[in-house]
Amino acid sequence: MKKVVIVGGGIAGLTVAKTLLEGKMQAEITVVNNAPHYFAGPSRPLLLTGEQSLDRIVRGYEEVARRGVKVVVGTVYSVDPANRRVRLVGGYVSDGGVMELQYDYLVVAPGVVLDGSQITGYDKYRGNVLNVYDPGRARLLRDKVWSAERGTVVVYAPKVPYRCAPAPTETALLIDAVLRHRGVRDKFKIIHIDANDKTQPPVIADVVGEIYKKQGIEVVTGQEITEIGENYVVTRSGERYQYDILAMLEPNRAPKFVAEAGLGGQWVEVRSPQDLRHPKFDDVLAAGDAAGLQFPKNQEIAFESALFAANKILEMEGLPHRASVQYAFLGWAYVGNPEGRLQTLSVMFGLDFTTQPPKPSKDPQPKREYTERKDSWEQSYLKNLFGH
Ligand SMILES: Cc1cc2nc3c(=O)[nH]c(=O)nc-3n(C[C@H](O)[C@H](O)[C@H](O)COP(=O)(O)OP(=O)(O)OC[C@H]3O[C@@H](n4cnc5c(N)ncnc54)[C@H](O)[C@@H]3O)c2cc1C
Repeated sequence: MKKVVIVGGGIAGLTVAKTLLEGKMQAEITVVNNAPHYFAGPSRPLLLTGEQSLDRIVRGYEEVARRGVKVVVGTVYSVDPANRRVRLVGGYVSDGGVMELQYDYLVVAPGVVLDGSQITGYDKYRGNVLNVYDPGRARLLRDKVWSAERGTVVVYAPKVPYRCAPAPTETALLIDAVLRHRGVRDKFKIIHIDANDKTQPPVIADVVGEIYKKQGIEVVTGQEITEIGENYVVTRSGERYQYDILAMLEPNRAPKFVAEAGLGGQWVEVRSPQDLRHPKFDDVLAAGDAAGLQFPKNQEIAFESALFAANKILEMEGLPHRASVQYAFLGWAYVGNPEGRLQTLSVMFGLDFTTQPPKPSKDPQPKREYTERKDSWEQSYLKNLFGH
């Protein structure tokens, strides 16, 4: 029986596993995930307002295993594509220690790592770097935003591509809403520093600019943070900004084992968006945020790339099943609440990559309904992939 090893039990990894099962591939499918649970990303920013709780967006792998997928808890730290081997160190619900897995097909889908190593002072002051991306740091950010009396909040977005384009903007606007709710907004300055020439995604940069103006949020674009101090950051052009609360996303990249295995640099190299095989290895495919695609890194694109990856494996196996898939997405960005009610509004936006140039769409009118739609969409992904 063929062996498929999937690194990463997130949106992309589980989509590949599910599609291979649907395609009736007779294989031992092993998903390796570095934790015994998964936290969904999209609604994490709502932890700030208390509208989301971690228990609603966490899932374990018990139902996945029941479907016939082997789930191993461990961190992959090396891949040997010439000998088709993956090495991992076991986590706390396995026997621990180092383990080696042999594969016929490898799917690399570990998402991103947040890498501040190129920023001066990062190692010393990394404890000051909070954001909505990591559940622990999101909790601390929430505590600070709910207890601080006055000061400056700096929100930062690194250069694209990074995971979830609107999340830094969402962070700024949700912090604004909480401070308004607490009646202390006038005691705070909120500055959004963006390394890109527009806030992301560009399709709603004008809408966000208008909302920022109304809410009194300053925005500086084209400024990359290169240094962090105890209470300030410095950008490449030498501008210095004081902060009391720093909600900063580090630059994103694939985990180091990717580069060490010769599978890519910042991202895993692929042949094309439709053929996610590595250019040198027919049996190594990438999917999700870790794949080197020219698209935004979000859940829909992760899902679609995973369907393309699974389709390619089914094709190589001579099996007839193909999941129907195209690159396009619709998303919702939280824009806070102008009156400080803890009922977040959202705008809708999308990009369709089936046309050239890609066709953008948006509804610039903030609506509560869009926040609710995003919640149902996220929950349905979790149900579909994790079985509950
Ligand atoms: C705060 C936040 C907000 C977001 N908002 C949106 C949104 O509004 N809309 C949207 O479409 N998308 C959003 N996203 C992005 C979306 O969650 C990701 O694009 C999607 O999860 C990518 O899927 P993936 O499978 O590539 O990575 P993931 O879903 O992250 O899965 C990767 C898995 O691999 C595991 N892993 C990592 N390294 C290793 C290793 N070495 N060994 C073993 N396992 C490993 C990870 O723990 C994880 O479980 C958001 C993400 C975040 C964090």
